[in-house]
Amino acid sequence: MASGKALLKTYIKQTHQKEIDELKSQNKQCKVSIDYESLNQFLIDQSGKDFWQHQIYEYIDQMEEIFDTGKVTLKFMNVPERDNLHDLDATSNNKWISAKAMIKNITDVMVDVKQASFICRKCGTQNIVNIANPNQSEIIPKYCRSPDCAGTSKSMFLDKDTSIYRNYKLLKLEEPLELRSGGGSREFKAIVLDYLASPFHNLKVGDVVNVTGTFKIEPKKSKGRNNGYEFIIHVHN
Ligand SMILES: [Zn+2]
Repeated sequence: MASGKALLKTYIKQTHQKEIDELKSQNKQCKVSIDYESLNQFLIDQSGKDFWQHQIYEYIDQMEEIFDTGKVTLKFMNVPERDNLHDLDATSNNKWISAKAMIKNITDVMVDVKQASFICRKCGTQNIVNIANPNQSEIIPKYCRSPDCAGTSKSMFLDKDTSIYRNYKLLKLEEPLELRSGGGSREFKAIVLDYLASPFHNLKVGDVVNVTGTFKIEPKKSKGRNNGYEFIIHVHN
């Protein structure tokens, strides 16, 4: 039986390839929405298992590489709500969530390195490092990728001009008013990347949105030093 990844690839190819190619040729930052209902039905028809059983969300980021989408991002839409922000805690690490949330505050567009280009001083070889998110640390390659070179992290420097950058914004997400069950409301830090953090995608304080993404526990930094841990939602859409 085809794997979840293969099924998702087939579905995108059949349903969205033309749209992706068209948008990519315009070289604009934009998104292609993959409808949950339609995809879920396809998965059930093909394999007898649904979106959640296949953990289809594990593969969506790889699809952007597989289809070489450039500035076009692929997003699931209309994913049913399954989680309540109120219930998320230390036992929810790495859980893919779908929840309703209110945007409490949001930063301006910030910029970070998406693909770091390190040049080896010993041999001049470029060493590329892809960076999944701005919280990632230790990005310098340990060794030069050139087989004839003994260069290490100490001989690498970051080349600003050949590195590729990305937008990001930090948000505070709060339980929407109607879901608060007495007592205080909980709020979580969240991060949006690339298109979702671009000026072309409108997010406003006070908006109630359906958030999908990965709930994570990460080291908390203050003034560049580690200071305990915190919850952060890496927003898919
Ligand atoms: Zn080298």
